[in-house]
Amino acid sequence: METLDVLVVGAGPVGLAVAGELRRSGIACEVVEARAEREPGSRALTLHARTLELLDQRGMSAELVARGRVVREIALVTGPGKAAHLRMDELDTPFPFVLVLPQAETEEVLERRLRELGGVPSRGERLIAVEPGSDHVVATTDGRRARARFLVAADGAHSTVRHLLQPPVRGAREAWTYYGADVSLDGVDPELQLIWSAHGFGVLVPFRDGTFRVAVTAPATSGPAVEPTLADIQHQVDRVFPGRPLLRDPTWLTVLRSGHRQLVNYRHGRVLFAGDAAHTHNPAGGQGLNIGLHDAFDLGGKLAAVVTGEAPERLLDSYHDERHPAAARVLAQTRRSMQLAHLRSPMSRMLRDQVVHHLPASLRRRLLEQVAGLGRAGRQAVVRRSTSQPAPPSSSASSSG
Ligand SMILES: Cc1cc2nc3c(=O)[nH]c(=O)nc-3n(C[C@H](O)[C@H](O)[C@H](O)COP(=O)(O)OP(=O)(O)OC[C@H]3O[C@@H](n4cnc5c(N)ncnc54)[C@H](O)[C@@H]3O)c2cc1C
Repeated sequence: METLDVLVVGAGPVGLAVAGELRRSGIACEVVEARAEREPGSRALTLHARTLELLDQRGMSAELVARGRVVREIALVTGPGKAAHLRMDELDTPFPFVLVLPQAETEEVLERRLRELGGVPSRGERLIAVEPGSDHVVATTDGRRARARFLVAADGAHSTVRHLLQPPVRGAREAWTYYGADVSLDGVDPELQLIWSAHGFGVLVPFRDGTFRVAVTAPATSGPAVEPTLADIQHQVDRVFPGRPLLRDPTWLTVLRSGHRQLVNYRHGRVLFAGDAAHTHNPAGGQGLNIGLHDAFDLGGKLAAVVTGEAPERLLDSYHDERHPAAARVLAQTRRSMQLAHLRSPMSRMLRDQVVHHLPASLRRRLLEQVAGLGRAGRQAVVRRSTSQPAPPSSSASSSG
C-alpha cells in the first residue's frame, strides 16, 4: 500500500487551499474529491479583508479582485428610505472593502495555484472508510486504499470523515429558513444592503455582471425544506424588501434551514478537520468560506512544519487552540446578528433602529472589523505560524480578539 505524507479529503475551497499550502512547502499531498466536476452553484459570494490579506501573501488577491465587484459600503436598511451607511474605508487594511465573487470563481483560482505547484485533485474519487492508527491513517476510497501520515477532512458540511469517526459536535438548529436566489433586477442600485424589517431579514448583494444575490429569512417550518421556485422566493422577498423588487432570470435558487454546529475538537489523532467539516453557521453571516480559508492557511503551514520535522507534532494542537475559538466567535456573532435582525417587539425594533442610526464611530469601526475578520487574534496566529512555534494557551488567544 502506498504511503502519503498527507491525504486531503475534499476539493472545495478549503481542501484546495490546504493542499496548496502543503505543496508550497514541498509536501507531496494528494486530494480526493467525490464530485467529477466542480460544484457550479454560486453559494459563498463574499471575501472579506482579512481573507484577502492572506490570499495576497500567496499571490492570489490581485486576480480575485480583478474578477469580482469591490463594495465599499454596506447599507443597513431599517425602513422605506431609511438606511445607515457603514463605510469600509474606515478599516486599516490594504483591502478596505467586501469583494463579491461567486464561490466557483474563488475555487478556480485556488485550484489553478495548486496545479501550478504540482497538485492535481483526483476528481470522482470518494472516500468511504477511514481507519485511524497511532502514527498513520488508512483511507479507503472507491478506487484504492492509501496509508497517510495525516488526513485532512475538508469534506464539507456533510463530512463523510465526521460521520465515520463520530467526534463530538455541539450545535443547534435556529428558528429561520434562508431563501437565496441569483437573479436580475430592474432599477435597483448595485449596493450591498442588509434589510431589517418587521417580517424578516433580507440581503441584497450586487455581482460584477449586474445581477444580484437576493436572500431572505422566514420562520422555519417543521420537516425538510422543499426546493423553492422563483415564485416562492418572490413571495418571501415581497414580505421583507421595502421596494418589492421583481426577480427575473434566476440562475440559482436555494433554501436552507438555519443552524450552527461546531466540532468540540478539530484534531482527532492524525485526522484534522477544517472548514465546513469542522463548523457551520447560518449563511446570512456570509463568513463560512472566509473562516474556512483561515483554517486552511493555518493548518497547512503547521502540517508542513510537522511533516518536514521542523516542528514537533504538538504544533498541531495549536491549530485547534487557535482556530476553534476564532470560529466559535464567528458562530456566536452570526447567531446574535440573526437574533437582532428578528426582534419580535416593535419597541425593541425601534430602539435597535435608533441605535444603529447613531452608532458612535468606535462601535461602527468594531462592527466592521468583525465583519472583515480583522481582530488582533487572526494577525497574531500568522506571526506564530511563521516561527513554527506552538501557540500560547488558547485563553490568551481568545482574550486578545
Ligand atoms: C447558500 C449559501 C450561501 C453562502 N454564502 C457565503 C458567503 O457569502 N460567504 C462565505 O464566506 N460563505 C458562504 N457560504 C458558506 C460556504 O459556501 C462554505 O463555508 C464553503 O463552501 C466551505 O468550504 P469547504 O471546502 O469546507 O466545503 P465544501 O465547499 O462543501 O467542499 C467540500 C468538498 O468535499 C467533497 N466531499 C464530500 N464528501 C466527500 C467524500 N466522501 N470523498 C471525497 N470528497 C468528498 C465535496 O464534494 C466538496 O467538493 C454559503 C453557503 C451557502 C450554502
